[in-house]
Amino acid sequence: FVVCRNVQKSYGDRVVLNGIDMTVARGEVVVLLGPSGSGKSTFLRTINHLEPVDWGEITVDGRHVGYAPLPGGGLKPTRALAKARADARIGMVFQHFNLFNHLSALENVIEAPIRVFGIAPEAARALGLRLLGEVGLAGHADHLPHRLSGGQQQRVAIARALAISPKLMLFDEPTSALDPELVGEVLQVMRKLASAGMTMIVVTHEIRFAREVADRVVFMDEGVIVEQGPPSEVIDNPSQDRTRRFLRVVE
Ligand code: ATP
Ligand code: MG
Repeated sequence: FVVCRNVQKSYGDRVVLNGIDMTVARGEVVVLLGPSGSGKSTFLRTINHLEPVDWGEITVDGRHVGYAPLPGGGLKPTRALAKARADARIGMVFQHFNLFNHLSALENVIEAPIRVFGIAPEAARALGLRLLGEVGLAGHADHLPHRLSGGQQQRVAIARALAISPKLMLFDEPTSALDPELVGEVLQVMRKLASAGMTMIVVTHEIRFAREVADRVVFMDEGVIVEQGPPSEVIDNPSQDRTRRFLRVVE
């Protein structure tokens, strides 16, 4: 469903993705682990059209994730890119929620359906209320983000990502900015999504979540995949020294 072949990406002299080959099947939940700076966020961003790659290719549901080349070299987001992004139906959830602070929870959720997909406001409202209900925030539709806890804000962000009917959900350390007591409610929503069959790539240091929910764990370091496999192998019985050292630190 997601196919990445030899994905390479550098910032200046620094090679951040050094030939990533990875496929994700429809309905699969992949947890991506790796130390800081190993390229996890960059990798998610390339899948979601937020970052062009230097080399290699990525397809999602058979569609090429590509950028329009500029005359004279380089790549640039274009109108075609905006359309490709919308068509790709990839939802993304970030560490710092990235909600619009001047919009209510409901308005945050229905912004993209109305603006990008042209859904009528009344239908969007109904959709938004249903999604807020699904993430346990039925009573908070009219609240501005600053009136919500971090865990609630992140659940709004998940509802917002779901509002585009995503075929793929990307999570970039969705619980790292949360107080410990708020982590569980967000993981619970993610667990529910996973069991509903959503295809997910999740960057997280929540090893227990990975063990319980991941079909596959991918360990990345220095822009390469060091090892991958079911949690029972990669987490409980890693074959690589680098993986062992990393797990000792995060667990
Ligand atoms: P973390 O766990 O800290 O989030 P990460 O695995 O997500 O790390 P990335 O954010 O993908 O790592 O960054 C990989 C490397 O690329 C880092 O060395 C980072 O400094 C560099 N980098 C990321 N984005 C940019 C950018 N826009 N410009 C220049 N360098 C960047
Ligand atoms: Mg990151």
